[in-house]
Amino acid sequence: MKCCREELCNPDIIDGTAYFVCAKCGNVQEIQNYRVYTTDEAVRYFAEQTGYQLPHGYVNYIESTQGKVIALPECENEISAFYFGEGFYVMAKLASIDPNHQNSIYNAISIALDWGVLPGLVPLEGDGHTWLALDYRHSNDEPKVVVTETDEGNILTVANSFNEFVLKLRPYADVYDFDGNLICRH
Ligand SMILES: [Zn+2]
Repeated sequence: MKCCREELCNPDIIDGTAYFVCAKCGNVQEIQNYRVYTTDEAVRYFAEQTGYQLPHGYVNYIESTQGKVIALPECENEISAFYFGEGFYVMAKLASIDPNHQNSIYNAISIALDWGVLPGLVPLEGDGHTWLALDYRHSNDEPKVVVTETDEGNILTVANSFNEFVLKLRPYADVYDFDGNLICRH
């Protein structure tokens, strides 16, 4: 929920309706049947909505992965190489599991579906052409972490578990210089 380019938060909740007031222009926006989710409730809601288990500790890494870099495996074809040939993927903030959040995992799922991301992949962040995603195609509770592109649907596995993914993350400055030039190889 945004107004005047700022995220509105801390709504007044009256009889189940949330009223968001913009501090800049005074505009009021409302959401009916609004409810606030604790982290546990949001994790359960994710399982109910998707049929998948979120990786343990996911919420602890939503903020801290921003700007981090993950090494990619070798590309097997031209399109894959076009998007991922540099060998590294730089991450934005991961999707929130709060259904009310502007950048929620549910928004990401619906945007990714429009772009043709395969069912079984739950996108965590991306720009339409490329996505970082949890890959539940072989397991409903132990997803791999992959990157995928939406031209041909190529998928590269970056980690066999979310835990492994977190351990493989590297600071941006270890991989790129100030101008964004690659300064290391795998
Ligand atoms: Zn406003």
